[in-house]
Amino acid sequence: MKTRVVAATLLVMAAGATVLAQRPSMDTIAEQYVRLVLGMGVHDADYVDAYYGPSSWRTEAEEGRTSLQAIGIQADVLARQLSAMTPAGRPDDLGRLRHQYLSGQIAALRARVAMRTGRKMTFDEESKALYDAVAPVHTEAEFDAVRAQLEAALPGAGSLQERLEAFRSRFVIPRDRLERTFTAAIDACRARTLQHIELPKEESFTVEYVTNQSWSAYNWYQGGYHSVIQVNTDLPVRVDGAIDLACHEGYPGHHVYNVLLEKNLTRGRKWMEFSVYPLFSPQSLIAEGTANYGIDVTFPAGERLRFEQDVIFPAAGLDPATAPEYYQVLGLIERFSYAGNEAARRYLDGRLSASATADWLERYALMPRPRAEQRVRFIDQYRSYVINYNLGKDMVGAYLTRRVGDSGDASRMWQEFERLLSSPRLPSGLGAR
Ligand SMILES: [Zn+2]
Repeated sequence: MKTRVVAATLLVMAAGATVLAQRPSMDTIAEQYVRLVLGMGVHDADYVDAYYGPSSWRTEAEEGRTSLQAIGIQADVLARQLSAMTPAGRPDDLGRLRHQYLSGQIAALRARVAMRTGRKMTFDEESKALYDAVAPVHTEAEFDAVRAQLEAALPGAGSLQERLEAFRSRFVIPRDRLERTFTAAIDACRARTLQHIELPKEESFTVEYVTNQSWSAYNWYQGGYHSVIQVNTDLPVRVDGAIDLACHEGYPGHHVYNVLLEKNLTRGRKWMEFSVYPLFSPQSLIAEGTANYGIDVTFPAGERLRFEQDVIFPAAGLDPATAPEYYQVLGLIERFSYAGNEAARRYLDGRLSASATADWLERYALMPRPRAEQRVRFIDQYRSYVINYNLGKDMVGAYLTRRVGDSGDASRMWQEFERLLSSPRLPSGLGAR
């Protein structure tokens, strides 16, 4: 085994030296990167979230079964080749962003290989290495303060947990209305997005309802401007989930993000690195952050509530008059989002066991037990990925707000949003948090 690794190392070093001598182009490095990501996917089933490049590259990766060690070594070679290049242009030029992006994606690939071959990292080290960001620390006292506000908003007998669950259970979409409610939401999100972003006319998606997953919904981008959106019905879907999932997974979230990358970069510029999406990489913070912030772009202040009352609540068979109090409580609950990061940090750093983490989520994020347990399963599978949702949203929101300025101009916001979705930008390139 050892001999084989050494032999592979020499081979790769020789290959690397040859390529270095030949000064590989960015396109060559990009292709090698795609092949390494596909090679990593052979070892790590969750790694390749989407791929629509040449099918022969995938077949070759599957047949080649490059070892993790060799993938790490080849990634090192690519990283060195990239660092030997100094792209010209202004900081925001796409060519420079591409160079930074590839460097960041390859660094994350090397980190993932290191993790899979035994390197231990803290939660923060891991999120920095994989997602180019570190989540801020929040204390129990901060979550207790939100808890006190919820106590006031939901008076009555029983524990706050029980009252909150009783309250939330009034806003569950009945299973037999789920499809029509979700369809109404996705139609609206799509129509609003198309008012501002031109998409290829052949773009399309299908929706599937599935069970037995650790996530609540997933977009599987197929290439050719097509997505399969899956909605998990293991746990009840509450009414706010309709717009949230439709925007996040569909328009202007993951589906639109992937469509724009394919249109502008993969096809438009033949930048093949965008034909693959490695899940455990900085790209995920941009993907999840834009998918979540896109909800606010699509339904700015006030419009969400009006639309819920006019369309979504009736579709779900719920009383529109109850929407304002529901959204007031949701506003408070959203402030628990960083409690999810804290739970993951404590759990992955070995400070809490799995069941103590579920307890912690029940206590500080007010999650009912089944949801807390589902979250622990999610953390087991996706680890520090959890920061991409809320930290990603906040970083994307701050970046876009800074660019748009105080005017709050909706069409400028959409322009900047589309620009971000169409460009290779690393989380650290979004500016200071
Ligand atoms: Zn997502």
